[in-house]
Amino acid sequence: MTGVPAVAAAPGAGGASGAPAARLLPPIPELDACVHCGLCLNQCPTYRVTRLEAESPRGRIALVEAVSQGRLPLDQGVAGHLYLCLMCRACETACPSGVQYGRIAEAVRGVLGPPGPPLARALVRLALRHLMPFPGRLRVAAAAIGALQRSGLVRALERVLPPALRQRLALLPAPSPRAYEPPAEVLPALGERRARVGFLAGCAMSLFFAEVNEATVRVLRRNGCEVVVPRGQVCCGALNSHNGELASARAMAQANLDAFPEDVDAVVTNAAGCGAAMKEYGHLLAGTPDAGRAARFAARVRDAAEFLAALGLRTTPARAPQTVTYQDPCHLAHGQRVRAQPRALLGAIPGLVLVEMVAADRCCGSAGIYNVLQPEMAEALLREKMDAIRATGAPVVVAPNPGCMLQLRYGARRFGVPVQVRHLMDVLDDAGA
Ligand code: SF4
Ligand code: SF4
Repeated sequence: MTGVPAVAAAPGAGGASGAPAARLLPPIPELDACVHCGLCLNQCPTYRVTRLEAESPRGRIALVEAVSQGRLPLDQGVAGHLYLCLMCRACETACPSGVQYGRIAEAVRGVLGPPGPPLARALVRLALRHLMPFPGRLRVAAAAIGALQRSGLVRALERVLPPALRQRLALLPAPSPRAYEPPAEVLPALGERRARVGFLAGCAMSLFFAEVNEATVRVLRRNGCEVVVPRGQVCCGALNSHNGELASARAMAQANLDAFPEDVDAVVTNAAGCGAAMKEYGHLLAGTPDAGRAARFAARVRDAAEFLAALGLRTTPARAPQTVTYQDPCHLAHGQRVRAQPRALLGAIPGLVLVEMVAADRCCGSAGIYNVLQPEMAEALLREKMDAIRATGAPVVVAPNPGCMLQLRYGARRFGVPVQVRHLMDVLDDAGA
């Protein structure tokens, strides 16, 4: 896993200046699909909290339309409304006209560049360009975080920092003792081979949930999959494309196209955000020489639950009497429309009882680095989510996405909810699925 070359700024990046905005924006055909009916409003988490039209999908689309027609400058005010959006894509599920809001937002963010005040923007840009595409550097960064946490410095800082910074520090996840490293690039199926799959190890999953990656590969292999874990793979690029760094996101997508063999039945991921991003590679690389390859790659991407449910579990899992609730990651439920498959897999475990929470598919406030950049809104949504989890009485919440898992673990500590946060593949692995 060697990383991709550093990239130059996207044309027009950092243009939140109020200058000739209409000329800065690329054509966004998705805008034309919105009929301003407002059916998406009550599904939008930020609108539900603020009740402001400008913080709703319809309002944001109207702002982008006004900018694209030259009626409004692309200034910090517009940028603020667009960056309070979680990119959860709940509005896409609700929209009867099929508006792909995520594509609209990514196109405008590609012009705006990263969010936040100047220092935060510079730091985010630095991390997105010079850290995220390089697995080796990410490992060094994670090791440094781990060392800081073990040294007690983080705890000491928590005592002296002002509350806003203390809250951000509390979000720092604890890295796995060892980053995920498969024993070989090709891991054979156990028993008769039913499929050959590529596995995206993922940056957050490899660094913070290495044991979940191991569990996922075990479940795939037990179910007859030969698993290829290409050494040359990099982060999927989701954080980059969501935060206005489209050029580096494209470079990362191209690196993954080169890394994964074409002769696999599926490219499997256990991270909802990565799956949603890779399913968009065709769109991301449209108009480039790699467009065809990217579209073929995107068509093969499957979430692990989606893939296993379609393949069918080879044997009935062992009895595992437990009560769980399930959090739909936004980029699985809304981004990929995968809702039934994780529930079906949980339902295949004898003795397991699934208690649904209220609004399981509403964002928990994680949204990549949103919880760091927009702590007030993230906290409001997390509080609501933890109340919903508490009301189920379940001692376990299953959430198959690293961002959700980190956020829910933080929420359990923050709001004193006695719940264990687990990945679906971990639960399946424990049951011997
Ligand atoms: S995005 Fe869809 S649901 Fe929302 S206002 Fe536009 S057409 Fe209506
Ligand atoms: S992506 Fe989520 S937060 Fe953003 S406008 Fe749509 S529903 Fe609202």
